[in-house]
This record gives sequence, structure tokens and C-alpha cells, in this order.
Amino acid sequence: MEDTVWIVGGGLAGTLLGLEFERLGRRFRWFDQGSGATSSQVAAGLFNPLLGPRMSPDPGDWSELATRYREWEKRLAAKFFYPMPMRRPLRGTKVTEADFPRKGQGWEAVVEGEEVFITGGGWVDLPVLLAAARKRGLARGVLEQRLVPAEEAQGHKVVWCGGLADFSSPAWQNDPLVKGRWQAVRGDLLTLKAPQCRQEHISIGARFLLPLGKGLFRFGATHESDVLSMDERPLVRDHLLAEAALVPGLGNFELIDHRWGIRPASRTLEPLVGRHSTQENWFLFNGFSGKGVSAIPRQLGAIVQLVWP
Ligand SMILES: Cc1cc2nc3c(=O)[nH]c(=O)nc-3n(C[C@H](O)[C@H](O)[C@H](O)COP(=O)(O)OP(=O)(O)OC[C@H]3O[C@@H](n4cnc5c(N)ncnc54)[C@H](O)[C@@H]3O)c2cc1C
Repeated sequence: MEDTVWIVGGGLAGTLLGLEFERLGRRFRWFDQGSGATSSQVAAGLFNPLLGPRMSPDPGDWSELATRYREWEKRLAAKFFYPMPMRRPLRGTKVTEADFPRKGQGWEAVVEGEEVFITGGGWVDLPVLLAAARKRGLARGVLEQRLVPAEEAQGHKVVWCGGLADFSSPAWQNDPLVKGRWQAVRGDLLTLKAPQCRQEHISIGARFLLPLGKGLFRFGATHESDVLSMDERPLVRDHLLAEAALVPGLGNFELIDHRWGIRPASRTLEPLVGRHSTQENWFLFNGFSGKGVSAIPRQLGAIVQLVWP
């Protein structure tokens, strides 16, 4: 009989992997300790085909990404995928109008005045996706809401999708796949209520402003490398509030919440997806940096291939 594979972690990585195993008809058990402020619970969930100061175009197929999220919406009977136009100032990037990227698979970018108008991006409401998957996993008896210690996993085929926790776990912290190859990048972001603001696109640049509907906006996020502290930082919040006050068109706003989290980022820029050096039945599915929404679906094939060569 085929091995039952354990998926440890119920953030975006473990959740999408569970959905993929289910689609492929694989036998699996799924565990999540259910602690609150994980990366997936605080992330803004943006997916953007043009990244970085050079607006480097994503080489992947963006329409395939949309197809996959729509399929997950159907399976989970929930709405969480929101394609939305994006605007980014051309100034402040390292490209000029003459050489900025214009078109890729499933996305397009057009210069309008001082801005680049991008279609094909948007955002995924991750807490809604995760809650729907969790509810379904519990109803079907697949999900167990508890911690899996490394000792318990000995002898089992396991895909570790524990986010930040994997990097300090005895299972992985000294493994060559992980050691020296990741960094903690803390991000803080705000939810604001700005009833007069009519913005219906996502503006991106040094910060993003994401319309959530009903006068609510998400604003952020900061990037602080090598910060592992999960303490509340009122100074960072106040700094973000001062920046938000300068955003054109936002108008008067009220602070609804301040959230923060740590992105486990790969120093190699490639996700940390691979096999353990000594426990040959253990695999890591992690290191998706600030691009989990687009990177995780694309790595599902690679991890399935590793687990069932
Ligand atoms: C501030 C911020 C903003 C971000 N913005 C974006 C964005 O706009 N777009 C984007 O694509 N990405 C963004 N990201 C990154 C994105 O959040 C991550 O790439 C992605 O969510 C990582 O998911 P994960 O499943 O690997 O980890 P996590 O979300 O951390 O999930 C790990 C889960 O595993 C559980 N777990 C760990 N160890 C065990 C164990 N031993 N037993 C049981 N359960 C365990 C944890 O409790 C947790 O539920 C952002 C991140 C941050 C912090």
C-alpha cells in the first residue's frame, strides 16, 4: 500500500500542498498547531508580475496562476482570489519608459503619464482561504490541530511546511538545505479605514495601498532583514501612519489594526524545497519570501516529484 505522507503546517504552503495531494488522489495526514500570527495570516497576499527596482518581469504563466486559484475557490466554496489592476510610479524604479517590460504570459503593463499601469496582478485573501481549507480538513477528518515534534515524525514520510518554525526546529536547523541559506525579514503593515478614498487599484512602490472594500485599506509593508523579534513595535506603526498621511487621495483615516510577521526568505532567491540530508523521508517546502502567493503554487509539482519520484 502507498505510504501515507504527513504534511506538517497549515499556512499557505501546507494548505495548497494538501489540496494538491487530494487532487492527485494521494494518501496524507495534515497537521497544524494553529498558532495565530503566522506569515500567511498577516500577509497582504499581493501577486505582482513586475518585481523589484528594475520591475523584473516574472517568467511564469500568470493566467495559469489565476486558473489554479479559481479552481481552489471552487473546491473550498469560498471567495478569496481578487485580480485587481496595479499602479506603480515609473520614477523611483531603475527603468525608463523606453525599456520597461510590457507584456508577459497573462499580464500587461502600460505607461500612463508618470505611472505604469499593470493588469494581471491582484491579491489573495489568505485568512479566508486558510479558514475555508481548515474547516474542510476538519470536516473530512484529514486535519489534526496539534504540534508535531521532530521525534514523532521519525520513520514517517513528512513534508515540513512549518514556515519560520522549521528554521529553529531540530529537524532542519542544521541541515545543509537550511543552514546559512535563509533569513528572517520582518514586515509590519496597517489596516486603515478611509471612507473618502475612492481608489480601486493597488498602488505599489516603496509601500503598497490595497483597497479591501467598505472603505478599508491595507498599507505597508516594511522590510527589516535579520529581525526575529515578534514584539509589537509602536515606533514602526507610527512611522507607517506618518507615511500614510502623505499618500495622495487617502484623505482622513482611522487606524483599524497593526499587524506584523516574519517572512522566512531564501538567501539564494530560490525557495527552499528539497530533501533532508540524512532523513531521506523528510522534505522541506519553505522559504517563499514575500512571494508565497505566486511561488507556492508553482513549486507544488517539484515537491510532488520529490516525494513520489
Ligand atoms: C508582513 C508580511 C507581508 C507579506 N506579504 C506578502 C504578499 O503581499 N504576497 C505574497 O505572496 N507573500 C507575502 N508574504 C509572504 C507569505 O506570507 C509567505 O510566503 C507564505 O505565507 C508562507 O507560508 P508558509 O505556509 O510557508 O508559512 P506560515 O504561514 O508561517 O505557516 C506555517 C504553519 O505551520 C505551523 N507549524 C509550524 N511547525 C509546526 C509543527 N511542528 N507542527 C504543527 N504545525 C506547525 C504553524 O503554526 C503555521 O500555521 C508576506 C509575509 C509577511 C510576514
